[in-house]
Amino acid sequence: MSSIYTLLSANVQRILTHYKSTKCYNYYRNLSSRDFLNDVYCRTKLKCKSKKLPQDVNPRGVFACNELDLSEVQVYGFDYDYTLAHYKPSLEHLLYKLGRDMLVEKYKYPAEISKLEYKPHFAVRGLHYDIEKGLLLKLDSFLQIQFGAVYRGLTPVSTEEVLKLYKNRIIPIAYVEDDTRVHKENRSKMVHLADLFSVPEMGLLCNVAEHFIRNHIDYHPEILFLDVKNSVQSCHPIMHKIVAQNLEEYIRPNTDLKKYFKLLQENDKKLFLVTNSPYHFVNAGMEMLVGHDWREYFDVVIVNANKPKFFTEVSRPIRVFDKNANTHIWEKVTSLEKGTIYYEGTVKQLQDLTGWSGHQVLYFGDHPYSDLADVTLEHGWRTGAIINELTHEINTLNTRTFKENANWLQMLTQLIEDHQGYKDPEALEVISEWMDERDMLRNATKGVFNKQFGSVFRTYHNPTYFSRRLFRFADIYTSNIRNLLNYSLTHTFYPRRGVMPHEYGSYFV
Ligand SMILES: [Mg+2]
Repeated sequence: MSSIYTLLSANVQRILTHYKSTKCYNYYRNLSSRDFLNDVYCRTKLKCKSKKLPQDVNPRGVFACNELDLSEVQVYGFDYDYTLAHYKPSLEHLLYKLGRDMLVEKYKYPAEISKLEYKPHFAVRGLHYDIEKGLLLKLDSFLQIQFGAVYRGLTPVSTEEVLKLYKNRIIPIAYVEDDTRVHKENRSKMVHLADLFSVPEMGLLCNVAEHFIRNHIDYHPEILFLDVKNSVQSCHPIMHKIVAQNLEEYIRPNTDLKKYFKLLQENDKKLFLVTNSPYHFVNAGMEMLVGHDWREYFDVVIVNANKPKFFTEVSRPIRVFDKNANTHIWEKVTSLEKGTIYYEGTVKQLQDLTGWSGHQVLYFGDHPYSDLADVTLEHGWRTGAIINELTHEINTLNTRTFKENANWLQMLTQLIEDHQGYKDPEALEVISEWMDERDMLRNATKGVFNKQFGSVFRTYHNPTYFSRRLFRFADIYTSNIRNLLNYSLTHTFYPRRGVMPHEYGSYFV
C-alpha cells in the first residue's frame, strides 16, 4: 500500500512546496476557487503530516467492551476449538479437501471439482452468504453492503449489478435475520458465517460456484450451499481422527495454557470445559497442549455439548461418558465429579448441580453466538471472546503506512464535507478529485487486511455486522487465552470512552 505522501499529484506537490517555502498567506487572497481549494488541501495535508501518529496497539492486549472486574470471577469456563486449541492453516486445507472429496463421492458433483485447490486468504470470518442470489458478501452493522466486497464464486460483482439485484445498499432486516416471533413463516435469505471452521467452507463454496459459472453449469445457490455445508460438516469426525493422530501438524503449541490453568487453580478458581467436540479429539489435543494430567485442572468437563442448544434447551439430560468404552452411560447424573467426563446436558443442569451462576462465571469462546450470546443475555455470565484474527489485524494497524493513510482519510473526508457547498465547475472538479483520492484510500486501507473482503472488524468506517455482535456479547476480547497471563486475577478491565458523533472530534478513532 502506498503512503499518502507518494499519492500527491504533481500539481499539488508544487503548491505544497511553494506554500511551505513562501508562507505568503496574502498571496492566496485573490485565488480562483481551484487554487483556493488546493491551498486548503495543502494546509490540511501539512497539518496531517505534522500530527503525531498513534502509538502501536499491543497485539497481545485484552480489550474491554464492558467493565469487568476479575476479582468477582470465581469460575472460569472454556470452549475448546479455536479458544484453547488454535489450529495451523493446514487444518483449513484438510477440511477443504475432505469436504471437496465428499461432494464428489457422496453428492455426485462433477469429478473435475476434485482438481480445485484451496485458496487460503480468500474469505474472512463474518461474511454473509445469500442463499437466494448465490453471493458471498460483507455487511456492516447497519446492514449495508460493502461495495467491492461482493463475490459470485471467485469473481467480484460490480456495484451496478449489486444495486440492480438488491435495489438498495441497505438490506431489509427480514432478509438477513430470522424473526419467527413476528412472522412465523419468515426465514431469512442470508446465512452469517461467524465460525472459523466456516472459512474453508466458504472457500469450497466459491471454488465450486466459479467452476459452475465458467462451465455454464446451472446450479441452485441454496442447494450448493447446503451440500457444501453438509459435506464439510459430515467430514468433522474424519478430521477429528486425522488431527488426533497428527497433532503437531495441525495444532499450534501453547505452553502458556498450563501456566494459566495452574494460576487459576492456585487461586482457588473453579474451571470447566464445555465443547461440541468429541472426547477422543479434545483429549488428544489437551494432552499435547497441557499434558496427560490436563483433567486435573478442570472441575467439570462436558463434551458433545451441542452448543448453542446446550445454552438454550431446557430439557436434555446430562450423561456420563465412559471414556474407556467410548460410549455414554444411561444412569441419571445427580452430581458432577472431577475427573468424570460428561456428555450433552444443558446449562441449567450445570448451574443447578454446581451452584455456579451469574457474574461469578467468566466463559471464553470464539463464537459470538453459540458461545457467548445466550450465556450473557439469558444467564448473566461474563464473557471473553478469543478472536484469532486480531493478531493479523493489529499488526496491520500498527504499520506506519496504515496509520498515515487512515489519518489522512479522516482529514480528507472532513475536508470534503466542509467544502461541498462550492458549486462552480472548477470547485466541483477539485472536489471530485478529492473524492477519487478518498476512494483510493478507502480501498487501500481495506485491501491490506484481506484483498477481497478487508478487515473482519470494519467495512470502511463502520463496524462490521460481525464486530457489532461481538462487541454486544463479549465483555472482553483478545487473540489468545495466554494474553490473560499479562493481567492479575484482580485486574479490572475498563472500556475506553469512545467518541460519539456529537462529542469532541477525533481524527483517529
Ligand atoms: Mg470454538
